[in-house]
Amino acid sequence: MSGILSKKRPLSRYLKDYKHSQTHCSQCGKLLDRMVLVFRGKIINKNAIMRMDQPIDDAIWLSLQPELAAQCRFCSEISCKSHANYFDIMAFKRYLFQHTEMNHSTIREYVVRLRRLDEMLVVRDYPAEKFASSSCHQHIIDGLPLVAHKTYRIALRKYEQFLAWRRSC
Ligand SMILES: [Zn+2]
Repeated sequence: MSGILSKKRPLSRYLKDYKHSQTHCSQCGKLLDRMVLVFRGKIINKNAIMRMDQPIDDAIWLSLQPELAAQCRFCSEISCKSHANYFDIMAFKRYLFQHTEMNHSTIREYVVRLRRLDEMLVVRDYPAEKFASSSCHQHIIDGLPLVAHKTYRIALRKYEQFLAWRRSC
């Protein structure tokens, strides 16, 4: 048979090699102690990798790489669990990282609050045009039955700072 057939290896083998070759988070650039592999927007753990045993060659592997990322736990949690509909949570998170002095846990707290707010807006079917056109987001929580309005207001104020920053860019 032809000797130029490209050699195939299980995808799991490629993934393991890839995992070992990554040292920094692709999102925040932090040195990785515990790494999370993200493939097509989903976290793949050790067991999932083991099950991905279909044989592939280098060409296929190269084509898959753009969909693959090594991330720290913090970034993977945010990028894989946020399905924001109103707020641009990913960009907001990046902004907090790069343009403020906040630590990880504070950023996480802001993101969690905005995500909750987002869910509430989804449930209430809040008009998207109304949301997009509002220059001040504070009033969107006026109608919401929240116990802790204050913490949400703080998060919204931060989000507005982010929007103002983005407009000025
Ligand atoms: Zn990270």
